[in-house]
Amino acid sequence: MNLPPYPASSPARRKAVGIDLGTTFSAMSHVDETGKAQIIPNAESERITPSVILFDGSTAIVGSAAKQNAAAEPEKIVDFVKREMGKSKIEFNREFGDKLWSAEELSALILRKLKQDGEKYLGVPITDAVITVPAYFSDVERTATMHAGQLAGFEVLQILNEPTAAALAYGIDQHHGNETVFVFDLGGGTFDVTIMKISEHHIQMLGSNGDHRLGGKDWDDVIVNWVSDEFDRQFNENPLLDLHSYQDLYNRALIAKIQLSSRNSTTLVHSYAGYSLKLELTRDEFENRSRHLLEKAKAICEIAMAEAGLDWSHIDRILLTGGMTRMPAVREMIRQMSGRPVDEDLSPDEAVAMGAALQATLVLLGRENDTGERVISQETRGKLSTAEGDLVRVTNITTHTLGVVLWDDQAMEEYVFPMIKKSTPVPAAAENSFGTAKANMKNVVVRVVEGESTVPAECTPLGLCNVELPPYLPKGSPVQLTYRYDENQVLEVKVDAYGNQSVVKISRNLGLNEAEMEEATADLMRVNVE
Ligand code: AMP
Repeated sequence: MNLPPYPASSPARRKAVGIDLGTTFSAMSHVDETGKAQIIPNAESERITPSVILFDGSTAIVGSAAKQNAAAEPEKIVDFVKREMGKSKIEFNREFGDKLWSAEELSALILRKLKQDGEKYLGVPITDAVITVPAYFSDVERTATMHAGQLAGFEVLQILNEPTAAALAYGIDQHHGNETVFVFDLGGGTFDVTIMKISEHHIQMLGSNGDHRLGGKDWDDVIVNWVSDEFDRQFNENPLLDLHSYQDLYNRALIAKIQLSSRNSTTLVHSYAGYSLKLELTRDEFENRSRHLLEKAKAICEIAMAEAGLDWSHIDRILLTGGMTRMPAVREMIRQMSGRPVDEDLSPDEAVAMGAALQATLVLLGRENDTGERVISQETRGKLSTAEGDLVRVTNITTHTLGVVLWDDQAMEEYVFPMIKKSTPVPAAAENSFGTAKANMKNVVVRVVEGESTVPAECTPLGLCNVELPPYLPKGSPVQLTYRYDENQVLEVKVDAYGNQSVVKISRNLGLNEAEMEEATADLMRVNVE
C-alpha cells in the first residue's frame, strides 16, 4: 500500500509511551523524532519512579516522597501492588478515605503519576501506552494491568511481555546479525526468563518460564529475618510485630542489600522497644543466607532451556534486566550456569520501558499502514522498518497451555485436553472434534481452562462456551471445537454442532466489569495524584 507523503511538520495527534509497571519501580519511555527510545524523567527528575503510594487525605502521593515516608507512616503506604494484580477486590484490597481500593485501581494511581509527569515533561498530552507485564502473567493479571492503564486515562495499545520489550530495546539498538538471546529478568518482586531469537527485523520468542513470587523482596526478607532473629535472641523482643519497626528494618535491609553489591560488608543498626542492635553483614554471609533463592532462579532457567529444547551452546548472548541483576552473586550464577559472559550494555532499569515505547510506536506505525494517516515521523519509520519498508515484527508464544475439560469414559473422571500448548507461537489456532459424553444431551458446555496439569482442579478456569444440540443424538456425536488466540492474548472459543454454533470471546476478567470500571474511573478522578 502506498502511504501519502509526510507533511513537512506533521503535528502528532497521538503520543504513545511505553511503561514498565514494576513491583518496586516503574519507568516510562517515548520514541523521539529521530526514532530513538528515551526515558521520560518524572517531576522529581528521576528516571525511575518507586511504585509506592502514600495516601494523604484525598491526595495520593506516588514515588520517592511516598517511599521516604514509608517508615514514618506505614499505615498510609501501599507497595508491591503488582504481586496482587488480577485478584478480585475481595481477595485483595486496601482501605483509604472510606474506599476499598483494588490492585488495578492502585496501579492506576501509579500510572496516572507517570502520565501527568510525562505530559508536563513532553508538553503534549499522552494518549496511548504499551504496558509491560512478566511473560508468565496469566490472562487475569494481564486484563487487570490493561484496566489499570485505562483507568489512568490511556488507550492501552498492547500488554507486552517484559523480556520481549527488553529484547526489542536491544534488538533495535545494538544487535548485529542473527542471535539467540537469553533474557534474565529479576526485579523487585518477580522473576522471568525468556529465550528469544533476534534476526533482521524479526524478534521471536522461543520459550519462557518464571516465578511470580521470586524477586528482590525475598533477598530483603533474608536480611530482615536475620536481624529480627538476632534481636529476638538477644533481647527477647520481635521487632517485626510493630508496623513502624518492620518498615524501618525493611528499608535498612534494602539499603544493606544494595550496598553489598558494591562493598564487601555493611553495618545494620536497628532500634526497637528500647533496645538497639548493631550487626555486621558481609557479602559472603549474605550470599550464603540467600543461596536457596539463587538456586530457585537457576532451576527455572534450566527448565526454560529444556522446554525450548536448547542448551547453553545455542545461546549467543545473555541480557539482564531488573534491578536485582546488579547483585554480583546473581551475575556469577548466570556466568557459571551458562559458561558465557553477560551483556553489560543494557540498563537493567530502563530497557523494558524503552522496548515498550518502541513497540507502542510499531503499533501506531501499523495503524498508519491501515488508515493512511501519518502520525509518526519518517525517520522513526525508517528506523523501525526493513529496507523494503516492512515493520519490525515481534512474535510471542503462549506462556500457558489453553485446554478444555473432557470426560474420560474409562477412568470415569474429568481430565484436561490441551488445545493450544504452552510455547505455541501467537497468533495460534487449534481445532478438534470431540464426542458427546452421553446419548440425548440437550447441550454441550465447554469448560475452558489454563494451566499445565491434566487435572481440572489444578488449572485456572477461564470461561464457558455453551451450544444447544438437536434432540436424540447418540453418545459420541461429534462436536467441533476451535480455539483462536491472538496477539493481545484474547482467546476466542467456537463450538460447532449440527448447524448450531456458539462463539465466546473468553474475557478472563475476574476484575472489574463495565459498570465497576466507570465507578472506579469516577473515584479516581476525585483523587489528586502527586
Ligand atoms: P525492578 O523491579 O526491576 O525495579 O527491581 C528492583 C529490585 O532490584 C529491588 O529489589 C531493588 O532492591 C533491587 N536492586 C536495585 N539496585 C540493586 C543493586 N545495586 N544491588 C542489588 N539489588 C538491587
